[in-house]
Amino acid sequence: MMLVPISKPLQRALEALSNETGEPIPQLVADALSHGLGIPVHTLFQVSTSGALVQGIYERAVSSTFLLNYGDFGLGTFDNLDGEMVVLDGVIYQVRSDGTVNKIVDETGTPFAIVVKFAADQDQTIASASSFEELRAICDRYRDSDNLFYAFRIDGHFDHIHTRAMKATPKGLPLAKAAAIQPEFDFRDIRGTLVGIWAPQFASAFNVVGYHFHFLSEDRTKGGHLLECSGTNLRVRVEKLNDFHLSLPESEEFLRADLTKDPSKDLAYAEQPHKKENV
Ligand SMILES: [Zn+2]
Repeated sequence: MMLVPISKPLQRALEALSNETGEPIPQLVADALSHGLGIPVHTLFQVSTSGALVQGIYERAVSSTFLLNYGDFGLGTFDNLDGEMVVLDGVIYQVRSDGTVNKIVDETGTPFAIVVKFAADQDQTIASASSFEELRAICDRYRDSDNLFYAFRIDGHFDHIHTRAMKATPKGLPLAKAAAIQPEFDFRDIRGTLVGIWAPQFASAFNVVGYHFHFLSEDRTKGGHLLECSGTNLRVRVEKLNDFHLSLPESEEFLRADLTKDPSKDLAYAEQPHKKENV
């Protein structure tokens, strides 16, 4: 602990900003120092847990624009699972189940999201990836540990992208059931960005283990939760994340939920394609 005297106007400004954004003062000071000294803070900020989502807790935990205090890059979903969230370059996009993409500028809430202030520590180009599986294997080369979190930003031309977008779902319907009726989309020859988080095995109680990517087209009109892809000449940027901030909801629904079960099996099911049951 270090005590640093600061002037009254600085203190007042800090307090005002903290009141306005809801961010604690130590966080604001750390952010300002990190910015001033040019040292990125590699913090992952997560709202709620994947376990709560699996249990059908789809109610707003925070407004999605609140996330921008903590990151400019990430993914998640919206109240009642109404679409897939992609946060890219400080803008929040909602990919809805009818395939449309909205820019979120209002107070639309989110029950689950994960964001980071993206500052790549690796910047590479890969010639091609013929499948999502191959892309994951290539991304593995840029991770030097299985025990940290990583953010991946992949930009370029994709020969093929296959996504899904969750449909607004009544609360309480378990995620695995909701995911079984999700619309899927197929895109060919499309430029865009994959926004991804890699989470270690030990995070299985509260996050999606391994790779989790959402796609957004360059013209910001198409996207979704990534199920399959292939591409050429892809720019891969990677950020290693050694700090984690978990913000838990205080809704009655969350406080009373039974979160003792291991959500990983239902979550793995929900993350996969369900072509036959598609509606
Ligand atoms: Zn997703």
